[in-house]
Amino acid sequence: MAKRILITGAAGFLASHLCDRFIKEGYEVIGMDNLITGNLKNIEHLFKLPNFEFYHHDVTTFVHVPGKLDYILHFASPASPIDYLKIPIQTLKVGSLGTLHLLGLAKEKKARILIASTSEVYGDPQVHPQNEEYYGNVSSTGPRGVYDEAKRFQESLTMAYHRFHGLETRIARIFNTYGPRMRLNDGRVIPAFIGQALRGEDLTVFGDGNQTRSFCYVDDQVEGIYRLLLSDYSEPVNIGNPEEITIKDFAEEIIKLTGTNQKIVYKELPKDDPMQRQPDITRAKQVLGWEPKISRSEGMKITYDYFKNLSKEELKKSEH
Ligand code: NAD
Ligand code: UDP
Repeated sequence: MAKRILITGAAGFLASHLCDRFIKEGYEVIGMDNLITGNLKNIEHLFKLPNFEFYHHDVTTFVHVPGKLDYILHFASPASPIDYLKIPIQTLKVGSLGTLHLLGLAKEKKARILIASTSEVYGDPQVHPQNEEYYGNVSSTGPRGVYDEAKRFQESLTMAYHRFHGLETRIARIFNTYGPRMRLNDGRVIPAFIGQALRGEDLTVFGDGNQTRSFCYVDDQVEGIYRLLLSDYSEPVNIGNPEEITIKDFAEEIIKLTGTNQKIVYKELPKDDPMQRQPDITRAKQVLGWEPKISRSEGMKITYDYFKNLSKEELKKSEH
């Protein structure tokens, strides 16, 4: 009998790719989303399949799914800084109440649950690269606190269900991931720079551009999450690509990739923007036998082609 999996945040960027992967592996997939930052276009190709169902539902209210469930992937949450600054309370609620409901559902169904945590649990890190033993440096009252603390609480709640109820839980600490189906106007640096290049605008680098990030292509991320779910490891695992770059150098790369004549302009650095970020993936290598395979140049080419092929209206809509 096919395994049955519930995936929350299914109409969003990452979870829509996870829906594709689990369908491909022969699972029955239930996608759930309230569409607050997601788009049904990301999963409309699945609607005709007999092994895919979609529930339009807000997971901060009680979650009910009839029938058996073997696995749950909890990915619902605003994920880009401009999204979670626009909807801070919903962000706190989906990480706390939403997670509580999904852990309760997992317990009732005796399902294994994996939650989407984030490198943001490390805040503006004082340890570099970040390994899972590092406790982080997060401002609970700063503007990013609504996301970071929701995710930290989510991890604590998940470990409590694991220890107290013996629930099978997995925690993926996801580092910056990119690829097709990101929203052009979600404010994250990759769609921001590509959108600017396509619209003929200057590229906006925040601060002096010396802050670093390490970007993971979505197919690698999906493979890491897939392996983690099927592993027997319940401590947090970093999933990301350790290839690190400054945002200024990254803007130069985008200028080369897109062939734009635009220049870089410098804007104010948002408060609490982490100065450096790079995953230590020793644990993922050891426990999952996983490491990323797709280089930034390969992944960025696919991503640029995706955005280039979007319609003119979509590009226009993404102007701020
Ligand atoms: P996204 O905004 O594209 O997707 C999130 C989805 O969750 C959207 O479809 C949204 O409508 C849905 N959602 C939000 N609140 C909901 C609620 N209350 N009920 C039901 N659905 C709700 O973002 P993404 O980049 O795909 O991120 C997915 C998950 O991965 C998030 O939990 C995020 O924190 C985590 N993550 C992503 C990254 C990354 O680089 N993409 C990095 C770290 C962690
Ligand atoms: N950034 C930038 N210009 C933009 C958007 C983002 O310089 O138009 C910077 C941002 O300040 C941060 C980095 O790019 O230092 C990554 O930002 P993103 O929002 O993609 O992810 P996060 O900060 O959550 O890692």
